[in-house]
Amino acid sequence: MHTLPTPYYLIDKSALLRNMAVMDTVRELSGAKILLALKCFATWSVFDLIRPHMDGTTSSSLYEAKLGSQKFGGETHAYSVAFADHEIEEVVAHCDKIIFNSIAQFERYASHAQGKPVGLRLNPGVSVAGFDLADPARPFSRLGERDPDRILAIIDRLDGVMIHNNCENDDLERFDELLTQVEQRYGQVLQRLKWVSLGGGISFTAPGYPVAQFSKRLRDFARKHDVQVYLEPGEAAVRHSATLEVSVLDLGHNGKHLAVVDASTEAHMLDLLIYRETAALGSDEGDHQYMICGKTCLAGDIFGEGRFASPLQVGDRISIGDAAGYTMVKKNWFNGVNMPSIVLKESDGSMRVIREFSFSDYVDSLS
Ligand SMILES: *Cc1c(COP(=O)(O)O)cnc(C)c1O
Repeated sequence: MHTLPTPYYLIDKSALLRNMAVMDTVRELSGAKILLALKCFATWSVFDLIRPHMDGTTSSSLYEAKLGSQKFGGETHAYSVAFADHEIEEVVAHCDKIIFNSIAQFERYASHAQGKPVGLRLNPGVSVAGFDLADPARPFSRLGERDPDRILAIIDRLDGVMIHNNCENDDLERFDELLTQVEQRYGQVLQRLKWVSLGGGISFTAPGYPVAQFSKRLRDFARKHDVQVYLEPGEAAVRHSATLEVSVLDLGHNGKHLAVVDASTEAHMLDLLIYRETAALGSDEGDHQYMICGKTCLAGDIFGEGRFASPLQVGDRISIGDAAGYTMVKKNWFNGVNMPSIVLKESDGSMRVIREFSFSDYVDSLS
């Protein structure tokens, strides 16, 4: 297992399939269709594995829509905060539904939809989000339309709406409250639609999540408003299905034991920095605590702290947890640090390298 050179993202097929089993259950119990949010995870080599358990993909740009239609298939939803004139024809050609972020974009482009179903993003102004950077209901938000009257004015030309106002929400009661507020405020809108996408951000694959009650809430919503419900999980589809495998390059002590590894938060797990989170690493036990640091020159390039059973040595391998969502889609060449390969761990434990990067990829990313 330790013969592959680090760094690499290690995708665990069995862990991914565990999440996919939950997708199957929710689809079956609720009648909802489930689309993978490509902005979270777009590692297309494992789409074969995901495809039987999800209905398609949702996108936030032309390129994601193209990737979804070419590499995943099924149903492709195209959404973007703002489409441009030069891309709209190609977006429409690659999607099954197009969802506009504003009434202005809808008015500008709905006539280009070539008969495909058209939707609008609705922003109910309430949300679950722990960080205002990721809160669609933040003050002055540009994400979606809020006013029921303005939406009702174009309702005859709308087939559906998309609402994305949850973020890592593992509390079914809170989800239910938010959905109830949507039903109260937008009741007249909902009864005129064919489909409603409830977005992503619902942690329904977390251990202990009440999947059956969640599914029932979705089914009741669908029946009450006579709509097809969609979910757009990103994180929930891939949670705990990958690690970032790194090696210790150097050790030091400056008030704490420090271990520098051959990867970087900023280049390879950027969300740790953006959301000021620490990585899952080491174990809860072990007498030897280390701060695990990245190898870029950014002073705060720190994965987090972990406990280890014995003192770390140069060359030791460390596994950094929960490295599937919002990692590979965001990786970059900061500091010219070598890009982690992508490795798939098959159900029988064998490892398959599905992508390696080299100096020429770095060169080709610039000019
Ligand atoms: C980000 C996003 C998702 C996926 O969110 P997760 O938190 O990864 O589940 C789904 N839909 C829309 C519109 C999004 O912006």
